[in-house]
Amino acid sequence: PHVPPTLLPRKEGIRLKRSLLIKPMMNEYYPTVTHGDGIYLFDNTGKKYIDGCSGAVTASIGHTNPEIIAAMYEQANKVSFVYRSQFTSEPAEELANKLNSLLNAKEDYWSFFVNSGSEAVETAMKIAIQHWQEKGNYRKNKILSRWISYHGITIGALSLSGHVKRRERFVHILEDYPVVSPVYCYRCPFNQKYPDCQLSCANDLETAIERAGADQIAAFIAEPIVGAAGGAITPPDGYYQKIREICDRHHILFIADEVMTGLGRTGKMFGLDHWGVRADIMALGKGVSAGYTPIAAALASEKVMEPILNGSNSIMSGHTLSANPQSTATALAVINFIEKSKLVENVQENGEYLLQKLQALAANSQIIGDVRGKGLMIGIEFVSDVKTKQPFSSGVQITKKIVDQARDKGLLVYPASAGKEGAQGDAVIISPPFIITKQEIDDLVAVLKETIEAVQNELVG
Ligand code: PMP
Repeated sequence: PHVPPTLLPRKEGIRLKRSLLIKPMMNEYYPTVTHGDGIYLFDNTGKKYIDGCSGAVTASIGHTNPEIIAAMYEQANKVSFVYRSQFTSEPAEELANKLNSLLNAKEDYWSFFVNSGSEAVETAMKIAIQHWQEKGNYRKNKILSRWISYHGITIGALSLSGHVKRRERFVHILEDYPVVSPVYCYRCPFNQKYPDCQLSCANDLETAIERAGADQIAAFIAEPIVGAAGGAITPPDGYYQKIREICDRHHILFIADEVMTGLGRTGKMFGLDHWGVRADIMALGKGVSAGYTPIAAALASEKVMEPILNGSNSIMSGHTLSANPQSTATALAVINFIEKSKLVENVQENGEYLLQKLQALAANSQIIGDVRGKGLMIGIEFVSDVKTKQPFSSGVQITKKIVDQARDKGLLVYPASAGKEGAQGDAVIISPPFIITKQEIDDLVAVLKETIEAVQNELVG
């Protein structure tokens, strides 16, 4: 018989399940997944889970899609790996052209393929710096970023990340730190209200540029909608138009970290589409192959590439598995499936439906402070007092409580918080696969409601 995981003593759990796999928390229970099917995952006790967050906002078309499996098999039968310094391959070339056509921009965008979002950000940083070097400017090598942000776990990408918890152990070896104000209307750092604020948070980029000196700055990086560090924190209208204008005026490149928002997640192909703005360089990850294989990409506009093409003619970066045919063919199949099945439209429509249901849930809850996001990327922030927005104290570990108890009830949600729990807000992201139906959204919200009510009763009675 199935034993609910929280009933297993944690230490007992690990003794029974001991393996040498390093897990995020070694003494905690993690179900062992055996297989997936669409929006569902199953573990080795036979328990079924609704994948309410696509893993880490990644499995955007759901699990074990037969068309993707067929495409992967077909490519594996041809060739899985060739080294990028010796060969290119048809799927790699085709994928680069496909991403460019999805952008539908005035100028072409070139793609550099890597294996994780963090590497895509690292590559974006290097392309930005190299762009200025090739123009003979060796001073422009600083990259500005915001607090309450996450750009990756490698030292360069973590240096840019405004994520206190992930930084703190490595602060002494990080190269840099964020200097620009977060964009966070629910807890405005300037204590203002939109639109009276006239976008003080965007103007803060200009202050940061003036402080550091535009002649030292290669680029500014931002997530269109903040993911892991804050739970789908969504900038107001006009924000990115202003950011774009400030970057242009100061001759600074704009890097969009679309690792989480990229390829349909927010109801548009790219997150920045909501603001009608294009970045100079983009990082893509997660959704590129929907988790079927590791692949990510840094995209750079013709304008960014031009001095490089006319100069050293080479991007000084790369990994052994960069642009391998297996991963690029898989990503192509995923994108083709998204387009063919009109999934971005589905995200838009069902995202609205999900948002309304979660707003209704919030209206009757004593611990939901804010519901926000776009498409199927909705954040829920928990507070101990909805009127004062007072966070829970860190000992409560509210995000963990919600995530664990939802999982025990058969629903996966994604924890998002930039600080130590309680210090900078506690949130989860609800981000199911794009193929979810309205009926399945009802099921998802029912389990979430039950979970939040149980936690609320435990905490505030
Ligand atoms: N940027 C953003 C916006 C992300 O959400 C993530 C992952 N959560 C990363 C970068 C890093 O990607 P990866 O975990 O694939 O290295």
